[in-house]
Amino acid sequence: MSQGYSGIRESRSFTYNDCGGGSLELADGFRKKCLKNADRSFSQGLQCQQINSLSALMSMEDSVFIVHSPQGCVGCTTMATDLYRVGQAHRGVYPIRSPRLIVTNFDENDIIQGGEAKLRKAIELAEERYHPKLIFIFTSCASGIIGDDVDAVAGELQETIKPILVPIHCDGFKSKICASGFDAAFIAIAKHLLEQGDQQKEAGLINLFAPTTVSYKDQLEIERMLGILGLKANYIPFYSSLEKIRRIPAAQVSTAICKVFADEFMKELHEKYQIPFSHTVMPIGVRNTDKWFRGVAALVGKEKEAEEYIESEHKRIMPLVEDIRRRLEGKRVFICGGTGRSFAAAALIDDFGMKLVGLETPTYDADAQEDIEYLNSIHGDYIVDIANMQPFEQVNLVNRLKPDVFIGVPSWSARLGIPTTHVLDMKRPTMGYDGMLYLGNKIADQIENPGFNKKLARHARLPYKKSWYEESPFRFIKSLEG
Ligand code: SF4
Repeated sequence: MSQGYSGIRESRSFTYNDCGGGSLELADGFRKKCLKNADRSFSQGLQCQQINSLSALMSMEDSVFIVHSPQGCVGCTTMATDLYRVGQAHRGVYPIRSPRLIVTNFDENDIIQGGEAKLRKAIELAEERYHPKLIFIFTSCASGIIGDDVDAVAGELQETIKPILVPIHCDGFKSKICASGFDAAFIAIAKHLLEQGDQQKEAGLINLFAPTTVSYKDQLEIERMLGILGLKANYIPFYSSLEKIRRIPAAQVSTAICKVFADEFMKELHEKYQIPFSHTVMPIGVRNTDKWFRGVAALVGKEKEAEEYIESEHKRIMPLVEDIRRRLEGKRVFICGGTGRSFAAAALIDDFGMKLVGLETPTYDADAQEDIEYLNSIHGDYIVDIANMQPFEQVNLVNRLKPDVFIGVPSWSARLGIPTTHVLDMKRPTMGYDGMLYLGNKIADQIENPGFNKKLARHARLPYKKSWYEESPFRFIKSLEG
């Protein structure tokens, strides 16, 4: 991480995660540095940072993942497990297997007596059963609150066992911004796995940092684009290995697919190993794909090659974009997603002539301001909800704004009968020029075939009273500064 970074995203200055209002006012307030810190007096369904730490690493080869927590904390891992299994099939890796996940299963007794003995047993069991090269140990609220010394247990056992033990401090309560979980994983990688000292540089090697949410098709597309610049990707940490992680310092340059993934880690690599990096946008949609590609090309002095490629790709795809535009022009959209994806999707819909009416995203900071300023210039004023999940606010807003389509995490808004689709499609294409065509057609198909959502709205109810929909969606956001 960049020097002094704690791994808690809230610790970065001018970062907000409880806020709501019109986009023009919000951007103006941020510009003038007069946005106030706030908190929610009622909060619902927050995504925990632990799942981001876990999902970032759960496809690592030769690894065991010990979660030092009550059993409930690993409930969310079903999604990462599913992704890993499907990802293996897409990559032709057989036999398909599940990640090796062990949970220490904290109970009331451990909360009183301490859970270190259980952790020790779990580590020994992991080695005996799987003989891995790496054992990642994930902390939780429970282990943090009672003060189990996970580092001390790992340090003591490391003297007698072969696998490298990597404690990851991702106690859920430490941060309300789930992306802090990515930072916790990278802090641990830097501390326990990167070798110090000079390493022979590999010409043309690029560290490509990507979260689990990148489909295999997207991975191939991005690697193909990097190939045009003469770059070979070291893909980290999704489907990675100890050997690939150890090659990180040998890279010539770094970039990330998601704007909030490895941003601090790339700064650290720059400081420690002099690896320049590109930190721009997520390559979704024409404008963002161009921008992302130009950012990488500038790192290696291949601007001319990049412009030639962009020109030829535009010639190829623009007639197809026009076809999609005819189906989508003028449609009103509400977008909900992680910071990188939601901003990228909001830029993408402009390619199809759609209008943004609402945007839900977990954080607002200097990076987000840059995106919001751009989105304001094309979409004008729209509602922004700075919220990590908070389904009660989302359904209130969606019900009020009545968009033609909802793009993002659809679990709640789908029940309002509005066509929904996901920009976080981890199994199908979304990125690069071909990805945007796939995504555009998917959005159009969903709008033209709303039957599923309509039936769902008839048969599935949301848990809120009618009166809630008449209240201000931001009623529970309270300023902390008077
Ligand atoms: S670590 Fe804390 S916030 Fe995360 S799932 Fe466990 S109890 Fe919930």
